[in-house]
Amino acid sequence: MRNQLKTIVLIVSLGILLDGCRTVRPSLPAPGTPSSALNRTDNLALGNPSGASTNDPNNYMITRPQYILSYNQSRSTANWVSWHLSPAWKGDARRTNDFRPDPTLPTGWYAVRPSDYTNTGFDRGHLCPSDDRDATSQDNAATFLLTNIVPQAPRNNREVWKYLEEYERQLMTGGNEVYIIAGVSGTGGTGQNGYATALAAGKLVVPATLWKILVVVPAGSENTFQITANTRIIAINIPNNQSAADKPWRAYLTSVDELETLTGYDFLSNVPIDIQRIIEKRIDGGNS
Ligand code: MN
Ligand code: MN
Repeated sequence: MRNQLKTIVLIVSLGILLDGCRTVRPSLPAPGTPSSALNRTDNLALGNPSGASTNDPNNYMITRPQYILSYNQSRSTANWVSWHLSPAWKGDARRTNDFRPDPTLPTGWYAVRPSDYTNTGFDRGHLCPSDDRDATSQDNAATFLLTNIVPQAPRNNREVWKYLEEYERQLMTGGNEVYIIAGVSGTGGTGQNGYATALAAGKLVVPATLWKILVVVPAGSENTFQITANTRIIAINIPNNQSAADKPWRAYLTSVDELETLTGYDFLSNVPIDIQRIIEKRIDGGNS
């Protein structure tokens, strides 16, 4: 009994100790790490916004080399997906277009099928985009698992949302790395066939908005990067309808604080709180 207690105390203190060691700085790669593995390990560097774990079916963490996501069983979509965009993830692998059910979902959970989207008037919209993951065809195929896909109004997907995706890759080719979190909020959107709250006989929820946060840091500062009061943060929230595309993504700029209120999450939780307070209230100027 006494020994059991000691073990528990030890485990708890170790947990607290490890927690205290969490840092904004990604750790140095181990010596001998192949260059292809460099800079590909920080998909959740800025924190776990909803405290996702494998205990809660509606905040269920799925971890892949290519991205990390919080899955919501009652929506049959992700709550959010988090990833790191750097040149290490880019290559010339072709778009696989391999939309498929996620085989890693727990037994007994409904796994969305490609046909759940057929003739619904909604696109299979990527959260982590196909073009952010094309170093290998395996990387690219990971983005087509249907847990990374949400019902998205076609014009939203093919115009305004896509232009922001292109902008994140422009930021990268312009000498930056980008830490990105994208997700959904609310219920009900308007696709090509009108308004809908859910597809797949009610199992696949259509979100009301899609939001995204980009944290832009200079390339090459990978092992020393720090988020400062001057770090550029781009936060947007776009309604899931066709006419959203009548405006540029810059019309949908918001603050991280607003997205935290909307979602109830704590974004950038690995960033020191005094820095969070400054950068999370700022609305980006939208300058290129
Ligand atoms: Mn898309
Ligand atoms: Mn925060």
